[in-house]
Formats: sequence, C-alpha cells, structure tokens
Amino acid sequence: MKQIGAHVSTSGGVAKAPLNAAAIGAKAFALFTKNQRRWQAKPLADTQIDLFKQNCHNAGYAVSQILPHDSYLINLGHPEKEGLAKSRNAFIDEMRRCEQLGLIMLNFHPGSHLKKISDDACLKRIAESINIALDQTNGVTAVIENTAGQGTNMGWRFEHLAAIIDSVEDKARVGVCLDTCHTFTAGYDLRTPEKYDETLARFDHIVGFQYLKGVHLNDAKPDLGSRVDRHASIGKGKLGMEPFRYIMNDNRFDDIPMILETVDSTIWGQEIRLLYDLVEK
Ligand SMILES: [Zn+2]
Ligand SMILES: [Zn+2]
Repeated sequence: MKQIGAHVSTSGGVAKAPLNAAAIGAKAFALFTKNQRRWQAKPLADTQIDLFKQNCHNAGYAVSQILPHDSYLINLGHPEKEGLAKSRNAFIDEMRRCEQLGLIMLNFHPGSHLKKISDDACLKRIAESINIALDQTNGVTAVIENTAGQGTNMGWRFEHLAAIIDSVEDKARVGVCLDTCHTFTAGYDLRTPEKYDETLARFDHIVGFQYLKGVHLNDAKPDLGSRVDRHASIGKGKLGMEPFRYIMNDNRFDDIPMILETVDSTIWGQEIRLLYDLVEK
C-alpha cells in the first residue's frame, strides 16, 4: 500500500496536523514540530502532546505514516564551531520533540560546507552530528533527505548519502528520504522506464533500499541537473506524470510516508487522488 500525504500546517499547534491531513484524504503527513524559521521554541505542552496523539489515533495515523521535518536553519555540517554547536543543539531538541510526540523519524537536509571545508570534511561532520544526536535520544531515526545540490548543500549525490551512513554508528537509526524534485535536478533522470530503472538501481547499489524511510513527491520547475531546488505541482513541471506513475506502481515504495511539498497547497487533496489513480489495477 502506498501512503500518500502532504506537509501540512501546524498553525494553531502540532495537534492540528493530523486534522489537516485527514481533511485532504492523506494517508501520511509531514509537519514541523516548531517554527522552522526560528532557532528557539517553547517546549511542547503536555496538553498539546496528548491532543496530538489522540488526533492521530482518531484519524487513523500510525507513527510509521508520519515524517516530521526539521528547521531549515540547522546545518549539521557547519564549518565553524559556533554554527555547528548551535545546529547540533537545535537538532537534538528537534529529536526530543519527536520523541515526546511518540514519533519515530526526523527528516532533515544534511548540511552545507559554505565553501569553507571540503566535501569530505563536511560529510564527516554531518555523520558526527548524527552520532551525537542518536547518543542523546531514543527511538527516533535520523532520516537524511537527498538535496538538489543548490549552493553548497551536500547530499545531492547518492555517494554523499552513503558516505554519511557509512560513518553513522547505529545503522538501525539512520535512513534516507528521496525527494523526486531534488533527485531530478541533482542530475538523476526518472522520465522514461529505462532512466527510472537505472536511477533507482544506482540508488539501491550505492545507498540501498533498506535505508529508504520516506519520499517527497514533487515535480520540478528547473531542468535535469540544474542543481536548483524549485518544486512544481505534480505533472506540471519538467518531470511530468510518468515518473509518478512508475513510483505508484513500484512496490519498493510501499508502506513508507510519501509526502507532497508541491507549491499549491489548495490542490493537495486532488493531487493525492490523482496519484492513487495512477495505480494500475
Ligand atoms: Zn523535500
Ligand atoms: Zn526542495
């Protein structure tokens, strides 16, 4: 079974997320557990935590269908001591918030070298950051998202993801999230059956499908290999409908949260139905 959903709003509190997801017919959802543009956040109140769990239960969402996303400010590969420490503390706080909500995954962008350290040094730092966070928390898997490779972002090549995983001590609590837009703009084609098979065979060979914990379903405004991160609505970008048809009929993507982060949130319900309609009977 495919679990398609969207990155829903938590305006009014985290407990709103499952309600917003249910309202659009989502079978999975993503959320921010704090304001993603700020460093600081108030601790989650017990009443919010209880209400979140109750709303998830009532709407039928298991924790395996929920993929929280961390703040955009965090850079776990930061080249400078202060920025790195700040990012690591914020990431641990986000892992703890997930723990408190009973969630089992936290999705994050790996980090950026800011032209101050080498790719390899940055990847090592990211892995070390993950090791520190896993040491200080319980039960939450660190889910590394592949990126478009914009600016100095790491994680756009499958080899980057593999290198990070390789240096993580607890392999049972590290995973990856593949974003279809990022995959494509990073240079991996998905638009024909041959290219789709080739790209995913490379992913399986270099990273391994056993690490795939989630997917972001986005069409791409920019071209293949442009290394630019701009999402488009499903079927409205350079990817078109075909890659989504292949994914919806590929059982390697069963039973993991698959999250829309497309540009027009008013059509997420339609996009979810559209994707399910691609499943061949
Ligand atoms: Zn994404
Ligand atoms: Zn993106």
